Amino acid sequence: MSEQYNAKCDICGKSYKVCKACQGTYLYQPWRTVVDTRSHYAIYLALTEYSNTKNKTIAREELSKCDLSERDTFNENIKIVLDEIFNDEKKADIEPKTLSKKSSTTSTKIKQDKNKNIE
Ligand SMILES: [Zn+2]
Repeated sequence: MSEQYNAKCDICGKSYKVCKACQGTYLYQPWRTVVDTRSHYAIYLALTEYSNTKNKTIAREELSKCDLSERDTFNENIKIVLDEIFNDEKKADIEPKTLSKKSSTTSTKIKQDKNKNIE
C-alpha cells in the first residue's frame, strides 16, 4: 500500500502524502511538494521572500493575510523567523518616543554617579 507519508510540511512539520500524480502536476500545484496546505504555502512564500529581501515591512504585510492561528505548532525555525519579523514591529513603535528619551536620561545619571565616586 502506498499510504505512507512521503513529505513533510516546511512550515508546521506535519507529515503528509504527495502522490506521484500530484508530483507530476506540480506545475499546477507546486505548493504540494513543499507544504501540506495552501495557507501554509502563503506563509512559506512570505518567509522565503523575507529571507531573500530581509524586508520586514513587506513580510508583515504578507503575513497579515496569512492564517497564523496555528503558529505555536510551527517548526522551531519558522517560529524564530516569525518572532524576528513581529517583535521588531513592537520595538519600532515604542522606540522613537520613549526609548530614546529613557536611554539619554539614564546615561547622564550614570555620568553623574561616576563623578560623585571620583570626588
Ligand atoms: Zn503545514
